[in-house]
Amino acid sequence: MILAVTMNPSVDISYPIQDLKLDHVNRVENVYKTAGGKGLNVARIVKQMGEDVMATGVLGGTIGDFIIQELKKSDIGNNFFKINQESRNCIAILHDGKQTEILESGPTLSAEEGAAFLEKYRELLFEITLVTISGSLPKGLESGFYQMMVEIGQEKGIPVIVDTSGKSLKQVLNHKVKPFAIKPNIAELSQLFGIEVERSNSSLKRVLINEMFDGIEWVVVSLGESGAFVKHGGDYYRVTIPAIDVVNPVGSGDATVAGLAVALKRKQSVSDVLKTAMTTGLLNTIEAGTGYIDIAKFGPFFELVEIKKID
Ligand code: ATP
Repeated sequence: MILAVTMNPSVDISYPIQDLKLDHVNRVENVYKTAGGKGLNVARIVKQMGEDVMATGVLGGTIGDFIIQELKKSDIGNNFFKINQESRNCIAILHDGKQTEILESGPTLSAEEGAAFLEKYRELLFEITLVTISGSLPKGLESGFYQMMVEIGQEKGIPVIVDTSGKSLKQVLNHKVKPFAIKPNIAELSQLFGIEVERSNSSLKRVLINEMFDGIEWVVVSLGESGAFVKHGGDYYRVTIPAIDVVNPVGSGDATVAGLAVALKRKQSVSDVLKTAMTTGLLNTIEAGTGYIDIAKFGPFFELVEIKKID
């Protein structure tokens, strides 16, 4: 089974308001509420790919209860660490062709709650083959928290895929125990080095050759519509995808992580791992729902992904 971790999940609320008036009462008829958070998107796609998955992380209050109900509706097993605080709402107001977002930062965890979660995580690994960790940490937990989760995974011989950014990503990369795979996008990679990383093969290879990435089996730099640039061991690959009509690209990175996790769990060949990860990513962009793919389209798109080894 794959374990998908979301440390700061949310209920994502979308308010379509044709003509938003500031400093006025705005009424909304059609409210959409979904269980959000990057790891929950990963869990949904893994499930749609036909693999067993369990969602974990930290949640609480009535918002936490809603998230669990939504996961149950999708038949996704869950085992979260419960806290005595409300999980967060994240609101997107869709108006005048624009999207204005109001994101709560969520609960603040104590060191004791962090330690208790790690204990639960350690126990959950008993029935797990591979772990994905996605998104940001809740307030109160130190930025080295993910690094501890990677270490616990390694102690038990379980590969861990980390998809995070900023300080958490830096800590994970600077530690001697490395994750099995990471999936930064170009903005996260640029932030890591404090430079604008270009999308060319030579520029990306120059960056990924940095010793910070030594020991990470798979570094998948996702490039949106341009596919990905990948370091696998000492080899580099450019992955290209077909042009498609994008409906909603939100969560494509999470869908890519899900595809990667499924393919690695199935011990697929290098080329099939990359094709699977790209296919789930692009399938998410052609659906309106976030963290949703039409599995019937997997085969035809898989065949259209191209892999080129870079010298
Ligand atoms: P997010 O933060 O929205 O989850 P991300 O920035 O982490 O996304 P991207 O690099 O945008 O990740 O996309 C991940 C993958 O999804 C790409 O490698 C590609 O396979 C697919 N994808 C994303 N955007 C597009 C697009 N416009 N057209 C085709 N495929 C896309």
